[in-house]
Amino acid sequence: MIRQTDLIEKIKSYDPEADEDAINRAYVYAMQKHGNQMRASGDLYISHPIEVAYKLTQYKLDTASIITALLHDTVEDTDATLDEIETLFGEEIRQLVDGVTKLNRLEIKSESNKQAENFRKLVVAMSRDLRVLLVKLADRLHNMETLDHIPKPEKRQRIARETLEIYAALAERIGMRRIKEELQDLAFKELFPEARESLVKRMDFLRKSGQNQVQKVEEILRDLVEGAGIKGARVYGREKKPFSIWKKMESKGIGFEQLADIVAFRVVVTTVSECYLALGLIHEKYHTIPGHLRIIFPRPRSTVISRFILP
Ligand code: MN
Repeated sequence: MIRQTDLIEKIKSYDPEADEDAINRAYVYAMQKHGNQMRASGDLYISHPIEVAYKLTQYKLDTASIITALLHDTVEDTDATLDEIETLFGEEIRQLVDGVTKLNRLEIKSESNKQAENFRKLVVAMSRDLRVLLVKLADRLHNMETLDHIPKPEKRQRIARETLEIYAALAERIGMRRIKEELQDLAFKELFPEARESLVKRMDFLRKSGQNQVQKVEEILRDLVEGAGIKGARVYGREKKPFSIWKKMESKGIGFEQLADIVAFRVVVTTVSECYLALGLIHEKYHTIPGHLRIIFPRPRSTVISRFILP
């Protein structure tokens, strides 16, 4: 279990001004309230809110979010009240804890599963403060990580489906890509373990046989744009995740071998003309796939997407 001092140290590392005293008080309060309650895993319940708080430190969230994470299940699952929380931690924390508690109740009521889009809208409307949603996403992530301890397969699968339809989708919408990918992967593991296993193996094989050399191509692209005098360009390469590969295979009805894009690169430049210059250079160097050039022009950023074949 993560210790109080580890949590404080982690927060202080990115926010030296963090209210250590308040965080310590919340830690102790949650610990006293949850008392001997247990998780399905056999761990003490308190380990859960602490894990959720710790996850949020990875996103460098503020003191109020961390405190909310520590308290997020106290109103629902113990004799703690919002009034008591307001007296001890102030009005802001009350509002945040109230928001997360309402989202939890919403989840229980919607077990019959309403339309996913309506449900997502409701969640967004109820988390007027984005921090409520962030705490909820970290909560769901930890619950997914410990999903194995839930004995009933139907229940595990329901939670996994809901994670995909609601929470991974919301994480994507607010730009939390890492949480989205982690949620998708954990849900994938529960719902389609064999498909996931086989994709993970194929990706490992490609990586080991040097066939998707993300780093190498990244360097080539970087040299290319820098060589053309484009200053301050950023180049990122990444390997697609098993879940998104699988989704594409499913939606297009194709096999892994026919899948064109296992790796993706992003070249970020400052002006539109540099963008087309970089595109021209890449097209000169690699074989592009006809019919796969897309130009999107939302302000303030324009995006050009092109597919090409790696050597
Ligand atoms: Mn929780």
